[in-house]
Amino acid sequence: MALSYEDTHCKRCGKECTAWINDGLCYDCLREKHLEDIRESIEEGEPDTFSDEYIVCPYCGSAVEGTDAMLDFPELGVDGEHELECEECGKKFKVESLISVDWETHKMEDK
Ligand SMILES: [Zn+2]
Ligand SMILES: [Zn+2]
Repeated sequence: MALSYEDTHCKRCGKECTAWINDGLCYDCLREKHLEDIRESIEEGEPDTFSDEYIVCPYCGSAVEGTDAMLDFPELGVDGEHELECEECGKKFKVESLISVDWETHKMEDK
């Protein structure tokens, strides 16, 4: 299969990348677009803040990277509901941490 120019260049920033994997976008633009989609949903009044990268304030759309937030609030790495205060608008909101589960198996005889 021959890749076209559009397949190998981001349609937003024009950078050469694996655009064919990400719907025509590079990884940076994909992250940006992801955040834009979340903010759009907040503006439309139906916040869809589900993200594996950002914790987004459901009031003002201010985003912190989840990994950064966990440095300050390690409890965010624990399954369940947590409370955060937005640094931008000062409002408190709930964060639900959904921790993915991984499994590894071992044979009975390996102790
Ligand atoms: Zn790009
Ligand atoms: Zn906020």
